[in-house]
Amino acid sequence: MHKQDAIHLDQLCPKISNKSWRHSLYKLTEYKCIYCGKPSESLDHLHPKSKGGKSNTSNCVPCCLVCNGKKSDSEVLSWYRKQNFYDPRRSMAIRAWYNNDLRLASVLLKYIN
Ligand SMILES: [Zn+2]
Repeated sequence: MHKQDAIHLDQLCPKISNKSWRHSLYKLTEYKCIYCGKPSESLDHLHPKSKGGKSNTSNCVPCCLVCNGKKSDSEVLSWYRKQNFYDPRRSMAIRAWYNNDLRLASVLLKYIN
């Protein structure tokens, strides 16, 4: 991981800046953005932090900086459906992740990546 990314992650999830926690999330997506499949460089809150989303495992997903910036504080699934890289399997994986079924999410992502 680049030093710059680490700083960015700490800014996003200040309470949980634990390195091994972040790596466990990154491993689940094989270090790829859960939305578009590019290398993940940050963590995104599925339910936006500005709307009360927590910085915990089921609400934080690895994603690239482009997706993170574009999604901003939109509702994740309706935002994702409008993207040109939309993939219904990823949508399922995102839903599984949010329901704290990380095993299912990682299995789905393995098929796509
Ligand atoms: Zn992305």
